[in-house]
Amino acid sequence: MSKIAICPGSFDPVTLGHIDIIKRASKMFDKVIVAVLVNPGKKPSFSITERMELLREVTEELDKVEITSFNGLLAEYAKEKNAVAVVKGLRAVSDFEYEFQMALTNKKLNPELETIFLTTSAKYMYLSSSMVKQVASFGGDISDFVPACLYDKIYNRLKGEV
Ligand code: ADP
Repeated sequence: MSKIAICPGSFDPVTLGHIDIIKRASKMFDKVIVAVLVNPGKKPSFSITERMELLREVTEELDKVEITSFNGLLAEYAKEKNAVAVVKGLRAVSDFEYEFQMALTNKKLNPELETIFLTTSAKYMYLSSSMVKQVASFGGDISDFVPACLYDKIYNRLKGEV
């Protein structure tokens, strides 16, 4: 049976840190479902459709990767998709407490589902979507942070955004 993993997140917008985790997950699993989280509480810079389009463009060459979006409980979504694991990236201790709580909650809701944490690659340790937003909004160069093929789309949207 093929082993399926889910990489969930906001991806608002996708960064090189995300791509690193997605690529590494796809070496470990037969299929990786990247699931863009619909979070009505947050005001995003990119719509769900736009975020999925950006992800599709940059993962086009990765055969094992599928881009989707989801609403509701990750534990349920994983069941629906027959996923055996959730793969998340861990940047710093500050990520840990929340992620640990989420992993335990998901385990309670779906005992078959494992959460796997991949240590961030050192060069992306400080990288987050919100950092990209801040730098671009002030007109800074984000070429070390986002995929080159998406630079213009991401930069033009974020520049001047407060
Ligand atoms: P962000 O904090 O950038 O908004 P998301 O909610 O979109 O992140 O994150 C989706 C997943 O990608 C999470 O598991 C997150 O820990 C991981 N991730 C994001 N940026 C990095 C990075 N620079 N290194 C490793 N993992 C990362």
